[in-house]
Amino acid sequence: MKTVYADNNATTAIAPEVLEVMQPYFTVDYFNPSSMYAAARSASDAIENARASIAQSLGGIDPDQILFTGSATESNNAALFGTVQANPDRRQLITTAVEHPSVLEIGKELERRGHDVTFLGVDRNGELVRDDYVRALRRDTLMVSIMMANNETGVCFPVAELARIAKETDSRIVVHTDATQAVGKLPVNLQTDLQHVDLLAFSGHKIHAPKGVGALFVRRGTRWRPFILGGHQEKGRRAGTENVPYIVGLAKACELAVAGVAEEQNRVRSLRDRLQQTLIELIPAVEVNGKDAEVRLPNTLNLAIHGIEGEAILYELSRHGICASSGSACTSGTLDPSHVLKAMQVPFSAIHGSLRFSLSRYNNEADIEWIIAVLPDIIARIRKISPYWDDKRNCLKL
Ligand code: PMP
Repeated sequence: MKTVYADNNATTAIAPEVLEVMQPYFTVDYFNPSSMYAAARSASDAIENARASIAQSLGGIDPDQILFTGSATESNNAALFGTVQANPDRRQLITTAVEHPSVLEIGKELERRGHDVTFLGVDRNGELVRDDYVRALRRDTLMVSIMMANNETGVCFPVAELARIAKETDSRIVVHTDATQAVGKLPVNLQTDLQHVDLLAFSGHKIHAPKGVGALFVRRGTRWRPFILGGHQEKGRRAGTENVPYIVGLAKACELAVAGVAEEQNRVRSLRDRLQQTLIELIPAVEVNGKDAEVRLPNTLNLAIHGIEGEAILYELSRHGICASSGSACTSGTLDPSHVLKAMQVPFSAIHGSLRFSLSRYNNEADIEWIIAVLPDIIARIRKISPYWDDKRNCLKL
């Protein structure tokens, strides 16, 4: 049976070009990059070349500002805890209620430790209310941590503008953004539009590099302290022997993603738009979560399907070879409704029936047609036995 992988916001397939450049560092050039002998030079050079290449991909910044980490989760932890540690005189943080758990849970932990944390809500489109943000900012705010693009809905926040407003309020406010879903899908330029962003996190496995590698940008001069202590790797800013092949892979993936970003994302957007339009035409009582947001990731489609369990649909889709998700992959596995959709006030009758398709450059028209061919039928069948669905009138029971 054909497999259609449409869960690229959860993880992506490793690009063949990425695997190819990684391979020598598992076999021939396996040395510890900190070793003194000449043979190890290839490993340490590979790390520095990767750093320079990523710096180039993110707008031609100074490579010294890029640190390699084990994941975006680690990068977010390092960004937030590292800023808190370096600024003990300031206590207020601003984030959003729809962040990935790797930011949200830190916000909650800092609150437990006595910090004053503001979790900004979103409107029905999943967007921040600018006035709420401006009202929350104070001259003594410690940091702002706002994601560039939401992993569940694809809704994007205007981080460049929010960062500028923070710096205008007080130049000492540290601005962090979780750009894990943005890199490779949106232009990310730390030299031009994101010039006021101090810290930026992202991950390899959302851009066709392996899982277990990430990066953190720390702008020179940022009041930030290292979070993982130990050896002198990364100039003492992130201890632990570097994962050379993965770092090399991350740089290659970044280069490929950024090189094709506009053209490739236009193609992906047209696939997503065809999927969205057709499913809405064919399935009654379906809404797109985040449809009216000013900017939404071109690859993401999050559907609110009224009167049905998302898990039941996923199971049926999976029997047809289609991989999608309900809510985010990180929060599915619990029966708690998605915190993102809850914050958007998606109605109760739809919150359990949310379904996310997220595409990548490896999807094609045949994938979309297959989803269109099977999903409406699956939903009709499940609705027939749903206590919430009026099968005769083909609508939700009131
Ligand atoms: N932030 C966002 C927005 C994400 O989508 C993810 C992955 N689901 C992460 C952070 C965590 O990334 P990693 O799996 O590399 O820790």
